Amino acid sequence: MFKLPDLPYDYDSLSRSISKEIMELHHQKHHQTYVDKLNAAIDGVAEAQGKSLDELVASYQTLPANIQTAVRNHGGGHYNHSLFWQWMSPDGGGEPSGELAAALAAKYGNFQGFVDEFNTKALGVFGSGWAWLQPDLSIITTPNQDTPIMQGLPAPLLGLDVWEHAYYLDYKNKRDDYVRAWWEVVNWNFVAERYGK
Ligand code: MN
Repeated sequence: MFKLPDLPYDYDSLSRSISKEIMELHHQKHHQTYVDKLNAAIDGVAEAQGKSLDELVASYQTLPANIQTAVRNHGGGHYNHSLFWQWMSPDGGGEPSGELAAALAAKYGNFQGFVDEFNTKALGVFGSGWAWLQPDLSIITTPNQDTPIMQGLPAPLLGLDVWEHAYYLDYKNKRDDYVRAWWEVVNWNFVAERYGK
């Protein structure tokens, strides 16, 4: 059985970008629902037992046909959100340093060039989805709760949830304001740690 992970900080500690109200709903309701529905889908399904979340999500197409959609949506949701909480921190914001900073500058001209390109991609997601920074420093998007490892790609370095549930209470329809504010809480230490692997 999968479990909802605790947030690594208090619900109100990202409030310069995301309110306590959104953090509580997003974690306790939305993420919990992905966990519950994933558990319900794989309950009693032999092919799904003993697999890690990563394994289930990456190989959802090999599972019995009647649970593939549930694992794709709810397993993907659990995987994406488990990372998303770690990609933010009360001590976040600013710019990366070290090798990651140099590599981003080499590819995008400078840090702002990277941010601008990421924002353009994130704002271009039609409906619900995610924007990702991949280990090769490309920026990609996925719809719904799809995640790069479902497509045979490596796990992302960084990801941004652009579902309306992630911002609507604070920002209404202004996804661009949310995306700009989100950079103020990005946990670059965690991103750099993933880049180093
Ligand atoms: Mn979400």
